[in-house]
Amino acid sequence: MTHKLGASAVSAVRARVRMVENLKLQGISDARVLAAMNQVPRHQFVQEALASRAYEDTALPLGCQQTISQPYVVARMIELLAQGRDLGKTLEIGAGCGYQAAVLACIAREVYTIERIRTLIERAKENLRPLRVPNLRLKYGDGMAGLPEAAPFDSIIVAAGTSQVPRALVDQLAPLGRLILPLGGADQILLMIERQADGRLRESRYDAVRFVPLLAGTE
Ligand code: SAH
Repeated sequence: MTHKLGASAVSAVRARVRMVENLKLQGISDARVLAAMNQVPRHQFVQEALASRAYEDTALPLGCQQTISQPYVVARMIELLAQGRDLGKTLEIGAGCGYQAAVLACIAREVYTIERIRTLIERAKENLRPLRVPNLRLKYGDGMAGLPEAAPFDSIIVAAGTSQVPRALVDQLAPLGRLILPLGGADQILLMIERQADGRLRESRYDAVRFVPLLAGTE
């Protein structure tokens, strides 16, 4: 059966293939991550006026003073979380437009994502509906408390920067679970915390990044 795509869909597919080639050049090598980045139609998650820029390797505004993360950073964080193992049950803090949650859902068994801005969680739901992602659940709330009813998690990914690691998130890590988050105020780095087999926590630091702040409460 042949599948006919409109001209704009064809150019989106091409742009996405180019984006994935660029990710490889930048050092992303996990085939699961590259396949997921190739699969999720990023242009369907950004505002229409920005759709033509959806596959540039840059953060873009998504409304409510928030940004959809740069493709490289999405890929890098997921690659670090998934290194040498499966993502397993995964929690994302900061659903934004839902893009990264969709990428995670291609790889992880089960994904939960939390967003503190009601307008954005509604928009994320709309963006995700046509993609039919059965293993993804969206929640409105303050992600600093994690999601006790679904804990523990094998992977937790925080899409907003903070100077202090929320204790609840560490507590909700399963044995051998990993948490990755942008640590810091103006200058942030990626911090990964792993719960080792003996229960002790191990920290590793990676790239410098720039994320919007993790904020308490909901709006
Ligand atoms: N992963 C998103 C990027 C979103 S930007 C995407 O793919 O589009 C970070 C998001 O984190 C913002 O939408 C912001 O509102 C949200 N956020 C900040 N603090 C939060 C908190 N405590 N709980 C839940 N979401 C939070």
